[in-house]
Amino acid sequence: MSHATDPQYRPRPSNDDRDRDDDREPIAAGRTYLAEPGWRIGVKSGSEREFCYMVAPGQDFYHRLHDGEIFLHRHEEKLCLACASRRGLLVGEPRRLRELAMAPPRETEGLSFDVGWYDLKRS
Ligand SMILES: [Zn+2]
Repeated sequence: MSHATDPQYRPRPSNDDRDRDDDREPIAAGRTYLAEPGWRIGVKSGSEREFCYMVAPGQDFYHRLHDGEIFLHRHEEKLCLACASRRGLLVGEPRRLRELAMAPPRETEGLSFDVGWYDLKRS
């Protein structure tokens, strides 16, 4: 029996993680999906200075990404999750199946069968 597929299975929070000296509150994040293809997820680590590519409302400077911060990146562009969300890149539901079925178009299978059949009849 596999626990991974059992919907009743809830992993218990490990007490080991609670021993750290970290009193920050966990956030209530829902499942999050990318609205635009091509972005990757990164985690900022270390003290090297890296900046979000968007200026937050009410600020006139580019804010830093902090150690441990999760961000989106595409090519050289990096966005903190707050700015990515403001830009509409993060959505709360997956792409619908209908949209997935539209791309990529499949147009070869039926055609090649027809061509082969006509060739047979002519010879
Ligand atoms: Zn930002």
